[in-house]
Amino acid sequence: MGVREDAYRYAVKNAFQHGGKADAGAVIGKAKALYPDKDVKDLVKDVQAAVKEANALPAAKLKAEFDRFDQEGWELRPKQKEIGLLSLEWAEGPNAESVVTRFAPNPNGPFHLGNLRAAYMSYAYAKKYGGRFILRFEDTDAKIKKPIENAERLFLEDLKWLECVPDEVFWASQRFDLYYDYLRKLIDRGKAYACNCESGAWRKLIEEKTACPCRAQKPAETLRIFEKMVSNEAKEGEYVLRLKTDLNHPDPSVRDWWLARCVDEPEHNRMKKKVHVWPSFMFQNSVDDHEMGVTLIIRGQEHSQNVTKQRFLYDYFGWRFPHAFHTGRLKLEGIILSKSDIKKGIEEGRFEGWEDPRLGTIRALRRRGFDARALKDVLMEVGVAPNDATISMSKLIDYNKKYIEAESERMTFVAEPVELTVKNAPVGGAEKATLAAGAQKFWVAGKPLGKLKPGAVFRLKNAFNVKLASFDGKKAAGEAVAGGVDPKIVGLNWLVDGGATAVAVKMADASVRHGVAESRLAWKKPGERAYFDKFGFVRVDEQGKSLTNVWFTHE
Ligand SMILES: [Zn+2]
Repeated sequence: MGVREDAYRYAVKNAFQHGGKADAGAVIGKAKALYPDKDVKDLVKDVQAAVKEANALPAAKLKAEFDRFDQEGWELRPKQKEIGLLSLEWAEGPNAESVVTRFAPNPNGPFHLGNLRAAYMSYAYAKKYGGRFILRFEDTDAKIKKPIENAERLFLEDLKWLECVPDEVFWASQRFDLYYDYLRKLIDRGKAYACNCESGAWRKLIEEKTACPCRAQKPAETLRIFEKMVSNEAKEGEYVLRLKTDLNHPDPSVRDWWLARCVDEPEHNRMKKKVHVWPSFMFQNSVDDHEMGVTLIIRGQEHSQNVTKQRFLYDYFGWRFPHAFHTGRLKLEGIILSKSDIKKGIEEGRFEGWEDPRLGTIRALRRRGFDARALKDVLMEVGVAPNDATISMSKLIDYNKKYIEAESERMTFVAEPVELTVKNAPVGGAEKATLAAGAQKFWVAGKPLGKLKPGAVFRLKNAFNVKLASFDGKKAAGEAVAGGVDPKIVGLNWLVDGGATAVAVKMADASVRHGVAESRLAWKKPGERAYFDKFGFVRVDEQGKSLTNVWFTHE
C-alpha cells in the first residue's frame, strides 16, 4: 500500500459518485489528510495518475472496483504501520451495527496456522465490540473434502486453548432444509434453472457468453426438476442447479455459478438421514452468513472473488452484504502448513498424525510448547492486512520466550550420554550440590568425549579436571587431576549417576534424541516446562516409568 494505491481508491470512489469523472482536487485533499508528512508535489503526481486511471475505467469496471473497495470498507484500509485491531466506523457511534463474526472452516482437516488468522481476528473484533463470535463448520462436500473424525472436539479444544471460545457452533450439514427453502425461493423468482447440458458443452457456451437452452426454463419446470433431484429420481450428473448471474461478466467463473447438485452416494459421517441434493459452498456460505446475522467477514484473499459471485444472490434476496476483510496468506518459516500436504503425508506415513512437530497445526505447536499468547501476538502484528505475510520462526520464538522463560526451570541436560568413572574424584570441594561425597560415576556427553585421546585432560564444568584413561564409545574412565578452568581444555556438562533421569526429546524435525537430565525433571507434570542448559526449552509431554518424554520447543 502507498499513496498511489490509496489515491486510486478515493479516485474510484469519487469517479463512481460523479458519473465516472473524479475530481482531482477532492482526491488530493484526502491524500493530504492521509499522508500529512509527504511532499505535496509527490502527492499531486500520484493523485493525478490515480485519477487518470480511475477516469479511464469503463462503467462496469468502475462499479466493480467501487464494490471491491466498498466491500473492504473505505475507512478500514489498514495503513502499513497500523497493527492490531482497527476501528470499525460502522460499529461505533449512535448508529452502530453489532459486530457478528464467524470462523467457518471446512473440517476436513485440523485447525492450523493458515486459518488461525481468520479465526483469531474474527474473535478479537467480536469481543472488542461486545458482539458474537460464531464457529461454523462448512461441511457440505460429501465427495472429496469430507470431515475428519472428531472435528468438533478438535477445533473446540484448540479454540479453548487459544482462549477464543465461540458463542455458538453450527454445522452446515444440519441446515439442509434451510438451503432447500432458499433454493425454492430462487427458483420461484426465476433466478435459478436446472441445467442438464453436458459439462464440456456448457462451459463452451458460457465462455462465449451464451445462454444454454435450460436457462429459458419456466420456474414451475425448474421446481419440478428440483423436487426430482431432492427425491432421488434425478440422478447424480443429470442436473445442476445454477444461479442466473451476468453472462457478460468478464470473469467466466462468475457466469451462472452452480447452486446445488445431486450426490448419489454421499459419504458423510455426521449426516443422519441420507440427502441427495448438496449445496455449493458459495451458496451455503451466503445463506448462512445472512441467516446468522454475520456483519463482518474475515477470510483469506483467495475468497475475495466470492464477493462478486455472492453479490448476485444478495441482490436477488435484497440482503445486505456483510463488511469484509480479505487477508493475505500467512506462512511460518520452516513449518508445513498446506492442509493437503499434511493429509497426504499422514496417509503415506511420513508424518505421525495431526500433532507431528513438523506441522503447522495448532495442536502440534501447542504440544511443542508454544504459548497461545505468542501466536496471538504475532497475528496481531499482521492484523487483517491484505498482503501475504511470512512470519519468521525467530520472531515467534522471541515472543514465546517472553511467556515461557519464567516458568521454565533451568537444569543440566546431557545429550547422548556415556558413563564416566572417575578415580579419586574429590570429595566435597565441588561447587555443585549434586556432586555427593564419594560419587565416582558421572554422565557426560559422548560426542565431545569421543574426540579426545587417552591422556587428554577435560573439565567437568564447575567441578574439577579429569585425565581421560579410556573410552570405548559406551563407557569412559579417567582420573581426577589438579588444575582449574583453562580455555584450552574442553568443559563438559555432567550429571552424577543417581542424580539423573532418562529423557527422550522429540525434536522439531520429529527425530528423537536421548539424554539424561537432573532428576527433578521426573517430577514435572505433562505440560510443564524446563530449560535445558546449552540445549533449549522443552515441554514435558509424558512421564513414563523410567523415562521422561519431552518435546523440544526451541533454543
Ligand atoms: Zn443447460
